Amino acid sequence: MRATMSQPNHHPVLLNILQEVFGYGAFRGAQEAIIQHVGDSGDALVLMPTGGGKSLCYQIPAIARHRAGQGVTVVVSPLIALMHDQVGALEEAGVHAAFLNSTLSGEQAAHVEREMMSGRLVMLYAAPERITNPRFLAQLDSLYERGLLSLFAIDEAHCVSQWGHDFRSEYLALSLLHERFPNVPRIALTATADELTRADIISRLRLEEARVFISSFDRPNIRYAIVEKDKPREQLLRFIRDEHEDDAGVVYCQSRKKVEETADWLVAEGIKALPYHAGLDATLRQKHQDRFLREDSVVMVATIAFGMGIDKPDVRFVAHLDLPKNIESYYQETGRAGRDGAPADAWMAYGLADVVNQRRMIDESPAEEEFKKGQRGKLDALLALAEATDCRRVRLLGYFGEASSACGNCDNCLFPPATWDGTEAARKLLSCIYRFHQNGGQRFGAGHLIDVLRGKVTDKVTQYGHQTLSTWGVGADLPETQWRAVLRQLIALGHVQTEGEYMTLVLADSARSVLKGEVQLLLRVPSVASKRGKQSSGSSKKPGGSSSAARDLGDMDEQAQAAFEQLKAWRAEVAKEHSLPAYVIFQNVTLAEMARRRPGTLDELAGISGVGAKKLEAYGAEILRVLDQA
Ligand code: ADP
Ligand code: ZN
Repeated sequence: MRATMSQPNHHPVLLNILQEVFGYGAFRGAQEAIIQHVGDSGDALVLMPTGGGKSLCYQIPAIARHRAGQGVTVVVSPLIALMHDQVGALEEAGVHAAFLNSTLSGEQAAHVEREMMSGRLVMLYAAPERITNPRFLAQLDSLYERGLLSLFAIDEAHCVSQWGHDFRSEYLALSLLHERFPNVPRIALTATADELTRADIISRLRLEEARVFISSFDRPNIRYAIVEKDKPREQLLRFIRDEHEDDAGVVYCQSRKKVEETADWLVAEGIKALPYHAGLDATLRQKHQDRFLREDSVVMVATIAFGMGIDKPDVRFVAHLDLPKNIESYYQETGRAGRDGAPADAWMAYGLADVVNQRRMIDESPAEEEFKKGQRGKLDALLALAEATDCRRVRLLGYFGEASSACGNCDNCLFPPATWDGTEAARKLLSCIYRFHQNGGQRFGAGHLIDVLRGKVTDKVTQYGHQTLSTWGVGADLPETQWRAVLRQLIALGHVQTEGEYMTLVLADSARSVLKGEVQLLLRVPSVASKRGKQSSGSSKKPGGSSSAARDLGDMDEQAQAAFEQLKAWRAEVAKEHSLPAYVIFQNVTLAEMARRRPGTLDELAGISGVGAKKLEAYGAEILRVLDQA
C-alpha cells in the first residue's frame, strides 16, 4: 500500500547533495556506488574501515529520498550518548534530524514524534531496543502505510553477530524490520570485516538479497608502530611528548586499575589526561567523554569500554599499553585515530607479560575448548604481527584478506629493524627448560630460567642445585632483555607454554623441531631505545611555532597560523553556544584551509571543502570578518 514510487535518483542529484549540504567536492571510494544503489531502493551491506565515510552512505540517500517525497529514514544506532552530536551535525548542515531516546523529556519526545509522523523529519536516530517497542512499531506502521517510511540504516551492524566483538542482544530484534516492512530498503554498515561475522550479519538481518560493498581496509594515514616494553609508562610519555604534544589521543589499558594509575601519572606529568572505564560512575564517564569530544588535546586513558561510535575526527594517536585480544580488536581500536585523513599514529608497547596474560585469559576462560582454540589462533596472529620484522600494514591487510605491498609508513618500513639469528639461543633456552623437567620434574618461571642461563647465583639456584646443570651459564653472553625477547618469541610461536598462577614454563611438542635445529629463528634486535622520526615535521615546523596538532594539517605560514588560531577561538564560542563539539561546526582541516586560502568573498568561501550552503549562510559573514581581522 505504499505511495507510488518516485523516479530513481540520478547521480547529479546525489552529487549535488554532497556539494550543497556537506560542502564536499567529490565522493570517496565506494560511496558513490553505495549511495546510488540505496537511493534506488536497493538493500546494502557496507564494510568500510573507520573513517572511510560510512555516514554519508546513508545520509545522502536519506536526504535524496526525502526530497523525492519518500519520507523518513530511521537510523538504528547503538550509542545513545552519541545521537545528540550526530543529530547536531546534521541540523548544522541544514538537515532536519532528531533522536528518540530515554534522555528526552516527555514533551521533547512528543515533539520529535510529531515531526516524524508528519514526514517532515529527514532522519530519526533510535537505539535498537526502541524498534521492538510496540508503540513505536505502530508509529512506523502508520508511516509505512502512508508511504512515508523511506529507509532503514543499521549502524554498527556487527553488533547483531555473536561472532563479532560487540554482540548486543537487542540487535537480534532488527530482523523484524524486513518482515514487517518488506518494501523499505535497508542499509547495514560496519567496520568489522571478518568473514564469519559478515555471513552472520547477512543471515540475522535477512540481507541475503543485499548488495555487499567491501572497501579496502587500508588506513594509509595511520602509522603503525609496535615497540618492546621496557618502562612502558615512560615510553608512552616520551611518545606523547615527542610526537603528540597538545594532540587528542586515546591510551588503551587492560584493567580499570591500570587506567586510573596511568591517567593519574600522566596528569602528574602535565598531560591533560582523563580516565574512562565501566567502573566509573555513569555521570563522570559521560563528563569525561564530553570533555574528550569538546575540548582540544584531551588524552583519554581507557579500557575498551571506551570508543565504539566515537566519531571525533581529529584523534591524532591511539596507544596500547597492553596487548589487545586479537587483530580485529587492534584494528578497530587503532582505527579511531585519524578519521579526518591527516597523519595519525597507532602505537603499542608489548612485552613478555602481555603474551603470558593473554594466553592465560584464554586458558582460564570457561568457554568451550573449540572456541578457545579459535581465540588462540587469533592471538597467535596478533603476536606474529607484534614480532614481525617486515611491513606491519601488509600483515594487517593480509589478515583481512587484502594483498598489498610494503607501505613505507610503519615502523618496520621506515626503520627496518636489525635482526639476529636466535636459533642457537632458542635451543639453549629450550634445553634449559628440558633439564628442569628432567631434574625432578620441577617447573620454573621466566626469571629463574634466565638466571640459570646467564649463570647468576641466587638462593633459588643454590636451593635446587641448578649450577650443576649443563645449561648453567651457557647464555652469559646475552643480556637479560635479549633472553626475554627470545623467550617471548618462543611463547608467541607456541614452542613454550605457560602454566598456572606462577606462569611456569613448559615445552610444547613443537619445541622438538627447534631443539633439533630444524627451525630457524630470525629475531628482532631489541629496539627499546630505537629512535623514531616525527611525522611530516622537520622543515615546516617553526621554532616555538605551530603545535603538533597544526603540523598534521599541512604547511601554514605564520600569518595562516595566526588566522587558524583566531578561527578556532571563534569556533569554540559557536560550539559552546550550540552545546556541540567544535568539529561539528567545522573540522580543523576546513579551518586550516580557510586560514591558508583566506577567501575574501562568500563565493570563495563556498569553494572550501566542508563548507555547505547552510553553514555558509549561517557563518559565512562572521568567518570573513574573523579572517579580515586576523
Ligand atoms: P565512518 O563512519 O566510516 O568512520 P565518517 O562517516 O565519520 O566515517 O567519515 C569520516 C570523515 O570523513 C568525516 O569527517 C567526514 O566528514 C569525512 N568525509 C566523508 N566523506 C567525505 C567526502 N566524500 N569528502 C570529504 N570528506 C568526507
Ligand atoms: Zn609498512
